[in-house]
Amino acid sequence: MDHTDLSKKIVTFKKVIALEEVEEVPAIPSVSGWVARFSGVPLKELLFSPEAFVKAQINAQKEIGYDALFAYLDALYIPEAFGCPLVFRSSGADVSSMEIKNEADVRALPKVDIRKDGRLPIILNVAEQLVRFPEREVPVLGLVEGPFTTSSRILGAEKMMRGLIKDSPMVEGMIDKVGYLLSDFGHALTEIGMDGLIIADPVSSSTMISPKIYRQFVLPHLQRLIKGLEIPVILHVCGNTEPILNLIAETGARILSLDQCMDLTLAKETVAGRCGIGGNVDPMVLLFGTPEDVKRETLRSLKQGGKNGFILMAGCAVPPGTPMKNLKTMIEVARCPS
Ligand SMILES: [Zn+2]
Repeated sequence: MDHTDLSKKIVTFKKVIALEEVEEVPAIPSVSGWVARFSGVPLKELLFSPEAFVKAQINAQKEIGYDALFAYLDALYIPEAFGCPLVFRSSGADVSSMEIKNEADVRALPKVDIRKDGRLPIILNVAEQLVRFPEREVPVLGLVEGPFTTSSRILGAEKMMRGLIKDSPMVEGMIDKVGYLLSDFGHALTEIGMDGLIIADPVSSSTMISPKIYRQFVLPHLQRLIKGLEIPVILHVCGNTEPILNLIAETGARILSLDQCMDLTLAKETVAGRCGIGGNVDPMVLLFGTPEDVKRETLRSLKQGGKNGFILMAGCAVPPGTPMKNLKTMIEVARCPS
């Protein structure tokens, strides 16, 4: 592979994806909501202004020094494009589920147009601006939620869980529809020149569903989606994923981003040769700990993760209230882990 035109950080990212050893492990905490707060721009405004959005991402990356730019502040724009109303709560943005009763309702949903519907055009615009940013030295990453999690947002968690047992055609139909949209959208991001896509799939966690349900309703859809994408995927699943680790390793994702409750050394052994690992600095330590606590926690992750096929990430999204000093400490320790 010829890397001569690429910045050092982008080359390192590509090496990690190829499971090669690197000198300095990339530090890529998913800072979505944190960046929104850092920007000082009200969320209602920020989400709809590509200029403010891009500026927030570039300023936050410059200030903290992590190794990516993020073309997202949330992943709600996918269910929103299907018609879920966006709502603002004190804790941030959220979506309400839709009135869908059966398979016919799912079939009747209009096809989503990624150039027109909801905030999808804004996200594509932001992605393009970040990729073309003249002084860019780091990879640009996108974020969507997986077909299973997105379907759960559209149907509502309760209807989704009931549907898995009582109305699998409705659930399957929804998951299929979401899968097609994500595939369309993923291709558009690839064309723009994005370096990678994070797929978060919290509802597929073993704290929510059994490995049997994962095998039937999650795995084949992720496999189809990821196989069709030309950019590497980092798959994040929250909570305990020990019972499904071998299944997640078969999705085609290059990196599995794991929760702080997981032992990275064990996980790495389990998936060895199939994919790498990301994780898993405890978000609660980032939020409530002292810089010394963050240092200890970061060193623990780095030690367990090793130097090949590993990205230092937080165990989940970085909480918006995380002190800047703690986030900076995490990155400093990654640069100089002694
Ligand atoms: Zn998570």
